[in-house]
This record gives sequence, structure tokens and C-alpha cells, in this order.
Amino acid sequence: MAIVQTLPPSSDGHRRLGLASPATRESVGEITVSTPDEVTAAIARARAAQPAWAALPAAERAAIIAKALDVLLARKDEICATVQGESGKPLVEALAIEIVPSCDFINYWAGRAAKDLADERIGLHGYLKPLKKLYIHYQPLGVVGVITPWNGPFVLSINPVVQALLAGNAVVLKPSEVTPHSGGWAAKVLWEAGVPKDVLQLVHGDGESGAALVNGDIDKISFTGSVGTGKKIAAACAERLIPCSLELGGKDAMIVCSDADLERAANGAVYLSMFNSGQVCVGVERIYVVDSIADEFIKLVKERAATVTYGQGNDVGPLFWDRQLDIVSRHVEDARAKGATILVGGEADTDKGVFYRPTVVVDLTHDMDLMSEETFGPVVAIMRVKDEDEAVRLANDSKYGLSGSVFTKDPKKVMRIGKQLKTGSVVHNDASVIYGVAEAPFGGRKDSGLGQVNGRHAIRSYTHALPILIDRWGLKKENIWYPYADKTVKTLESAIKFLFGNHLVRRFMR
Ligand code: NAD
Repeated sequence: MAIVQTLPPSSDGHRRLGLASPATRESVGEITVSTPDEVTAAIARARAAQPAWAALPAAERAAIIAKALDVLLARKDEICATVQGESGKPLVEALAIEIVPSCDFINYWAGRAAKDLADERIGLHGYLKPLKKLYIHYQPLGVVGVITPWNGPFVLSINPVVQALLAGNAVVLKPSEVTPHSGGWAAKVLWEAGVPKDVLQLVHGDGESGAALVNGDIDKISFTGSVGTGKKIAAACAERLIPCSLELGGKDAMIVCSDADLERAANGAVYLSMFNSGQVCVGVERIYVVDSIADEFIKLVKERAATVTYGQGNDVGPLFWDRQLDIVSRHVEDARAKGATILVGGEADTDKGVFYRPTVVVDLTHDMDLMSEETFGPVVAIMRVKDEDEAVRLANDSKYGLSGSVFTKDPKKVMRIGKQLKTGSVVHNDASVIYGVAEAPFGGRKDSGLGQVNGRHAIRSYTHALPILIDRWGLKKENIWYPYADKTVKTLESAIKFLFGNHLVRRFMR
């Protein structure tokens, strides 16, 4: 039984999708797919409701969103049960990946909103200073469409939705069809906290409903998902000249330097490649280890990986759906066929659910999918390199650029190597934690995406920064307004000479 299955349509003709747990293949419910007309109607309701929501002072919106943290805490067990039912992930991962960062994001963004959205007075420079005053107003965009994936279904939904709402927008959320009820909890928690239902709309479905949202009357798309879908969304947004943020796939490199703490590096390599069954956009996907310590590192990784358990309730849960199992199996087989060595695992186990054994592969090269395509499975993929320079060159030899990590005892080396990496972010002796650091602007380069979520002013990315320029003097006319006269030219010529012709004055003009 597939994890997502087409069911016979409902009596009123709606498409239906049945859902099964990837851990047991038992049914965990179904969804009725929102038709394109229903998506359009949801957007229209959101648009009608948005002005009243935007009219609330930012602090009032923030107070409502802050209540969502209490709701989340009260509903934590139900949310985890839904997430575990739909994804099969262990409770530790439901708590650590979905609940902890969601609590922190709600708390952090709600706490910042009033400050980040307040009108800002910007001091002007040079000759403008005595003439004008500048304010920046952070104006909501209107209706934001949020489309999310299945690998972190709750946190990746609630984080953008909270930011967009705080900024004064209405939101239409479409979670993944693989984990719809987990994503749906983001809306339920916020509704229960007091966000009006029309201000936050929830639609369900697959690519058809997603496309209807993207092509609807919206003002921004916040998308998290695959590169292929991201590019389609970018094209649709370009057609309508609306902004989008695209958080896409990754092939994050981990560099193990000669001075690394090998215990930590080996523990990190195994955990950061395998947690969430390896289905983490910013998980470690490929490892470059410097030759001088490679034997010892690989020995430790092999020992650690051999102790990792898999199966329901164990360390490594299932892959979240069948499609993912096919990709992981294909990548490992491709590597094996091209000469790689499988040290641990290396095969699927589909007796009870959609499992792939914890796996370690070495002797890899860049012509193997395991080193070039996003694998998204519990696989530690290790390649030896001559030195750190070669590691940097190979880390950059990728169409992806989401994040990267450097394992060394020397933070200065992280700064030096990190600045050479063409990737979205760099982490020292750790990796995926970067998404949970709200202050860090998070976003991919190259095929890994466009735009950044998080960062101190992330809420502002859901607004238009509207400069309002105020006149200071109320003169009847400015000097250069009509009629043009010789005197106007002379005044301009002397102003240019005075303001920019003298190096001392130039300094005051900056
Ligand atoms: P996906 O692109 O298949 O689906 C993502 C969402 O888009 C789903 O809700 C889906 O229904 C919807 N969708 C599908 N076709 C659409 C269309 N034509 N128009 C609009 N919406 C459409 O991706 P996925 O398989 O659900 O997610 C896994 C991918 O997400 C991985 O590549 C992973 O790396 C990436 N991801 C990235 C980040 C990040 O922050 N960069 C975070 C998590 C996951």
C-alpha cells in the first residue's frame, strides 16, 4: 500500500487521498483535495479579511500569536501523535525537530514584531538632510500563500505562517499531501489562539491545489520543497511579478579537518546524516575527510553506525513515503555499481514499513548520485580528500548550496574555510541546528533556493518597505522647478562644485 493513495472521489465529486503510516502502512486518515475553485475562494476570503487584521496594532497581533505558544504547549502531545502517525518519526524527533523550534519561533517572532514593524526614522545624508525627513513604513503585502513539504511538516508550516501573520498579512496555507494533518496543526494552533479563520485559511491537496494557490490572486509565495517545484513557482511568480521565497533541496557538505575532534566528528557524521531518517534539507549529505585522519574517522563512523537501530520506536524511523525509498535505494545502488564500498547497511527493509537500514558508504566519487543529487536517507557518504583545499573545492562542486559544516578545533579555520564555501550558511562542529537559530538569515544559493527566511528582520520580508519622504520647509516651489532660467543652471553648477568638488566637503556629504 502506498503512503499516499488515490481514493474514489467523494459523493460530491471531490478528489480524495488516503494516507498511511510509513512505519506500519496502516491507514492514518485521508484528505479531501481542495479544488482550484475552492482555493480561489479561500484567497478571496483571506483578501477580504486582511485589512481588519492589518489595522490591528502590531503589538495586538503579536499578543494573539504569542498565545499560540500556550495552545501549542497544551496540544503538544496531540501534535506529536499526528506527526508521528503521518511520518513515523520517533518521539524524540517530533519533539526536537517540530515542537522545540516552533515554540522558539513563535516566542521570538511575537516578541520582535512590534519593534521590527514600527515606522523607522532614517537619518538622511548630505544636502538632503536639511531639506527632507525620511520614514520607512513596513506595509503588509496582502495575502501570502505558504506551501510546505513533508519532512518537517509542522515547524516548516508554522514558522513562515507566523511571520507573515505578524507582518499584517492574511495567509493561505497548503501543507504537503503526504503530511497534511501535521501541517494543518499550524493553522489549528493559531486559530485556537485567536487568529480569525478567514485571516488564516487552510487548503489541502497536492500539486494541483498548490498550483491554484500560486496562480491565484496572492501577493507573495513562501515555498519550501523540491527544486523542480520551486522553479515552477519562481516562473509563475515572475509572470505576475510577485515576490517568492524558495527554500529548496540541499546536498550539504561536512568537512572534517585534520585537527578535528574525531569523537565528535564521527558522532556528528552519523547523527547529522541519519536523524529524521536523513530527510533534512540541512542534514549532512556528503562528507569530505582529510586523508591524514581518514582511517581513524571512518573506523569510528563504522562503529557508531553499526549501533544505530532502525524500525518503529528506534533511532532511525521510516522514510516518510515510498517515493523517497526509491530515491535512496537508487543512489546507493548507483554508488555500489560505480565502485563504492558499503561498510554498513545498504538496503531497504520493507517488511513492516518504508525503512532503509542505517548505511555507511566510502570510496565515493563525484560521478555518483550519492555525491551529487539530494539523497534524503539515513546514509553516511564519505570521501577522502588530500587536504582542506581539496575539500573546499569539492564542497563547492555542487549545483546545491544550502548549508555546510566544518569540523575542527580551530574556530579561526572555520572562518577561513567558511568564507570560501559557496553555500547558504556554515556551521562549526554541528550542522542542521542553523535552521533553528532565528537570528541567522537562512536560505539557499544556486539550486537550493532564493531569498532568506529567519534572520533578525525576517518579518519584514513579508512587507513592502515603504519610504515616506517628508518635506521640511513648505516652500512654494523648489529651486529647480519650472520655469528653467540661466540662474537655475548657475545655482546647480555652483552646488555641484561646492558639494562634490572638494574632498573635505565630500566627507561631510556621506
Ligand atoms: P515538493 O516540491 O514535491 O512538494 C512541496 C509542496 O509543494 C507540497 O505541498 C506539494 O503539494 C506542493 N506542490 C507540488 N507541485 C506543486 C506545483 N506545481 N505548484 C505548487 N505547489 C506544488 O517537495 P517535497 O518532496 O514535499 O519536499 C522535499 C524537498 O523539500 C526536499 O528537496 C527538501 O530538501 C526540501 N526542503 C527544503 C527546506 C529548506 O529550508 N531549504 C526545508 C525542508 C525541505
